[in-house]
Amino acid sequence: MKAIEELIGLKIERCPECKCPVGDDWDYKDYSGRCIVICPQCSHEISLFPPPEIKNLKFICPKCNKDILECCEDTAFVSSSIKFIDESGDFEYGEVTVHDGIVCRFQCLYCGYILKDKDEKNIDENLEVVEWLKKNCKQEK
Ligand SMILES: [Zn+2]
Ligand SMILES: [Zn+2]
Repeated sequence: MKAIEELIGLKIERCPECKCPVGDDWDYKDYSGRCIVICPQCSHEISLFPPPEIKNLKFICPKCNKDILECCEDTAFVSSSIKFIDESGDFEYGEVTVHDGIVCRFQCLYCGYILKDKDEKNIDENLEVVEWLKKNCKQEK
């Protein structure tokens, strides 16, 4: 596909910079990706696939209206196998394993309001938090 066809397809008929009309001499900047076309007049670059806008989401606590969300983790814990169990209660322990902390909940820093999903389970995944914020907090357009 030629650059001009793609631009016309996207309803870009002129260079946004120098306003010269799109023509046959317009070309891709990079043939492998084919996502940027360069204006032959002013070398302005036009992106054919603008990256989707990523918005920052805001947290507003439904309980206290403050806006800082906190991620709580179970603190790292240590476990070890027991090698010998002495009947006097003097156990001998084997290798000690340290487990990483895992996220267990997201909550309001101020009042401890915990984010829950529709099944009333604590939300523990980032994408679930995103969903929750979109649903429960008013976001700026
Ligand atoms: Zn131009
Ligand atoms: Zn709160």
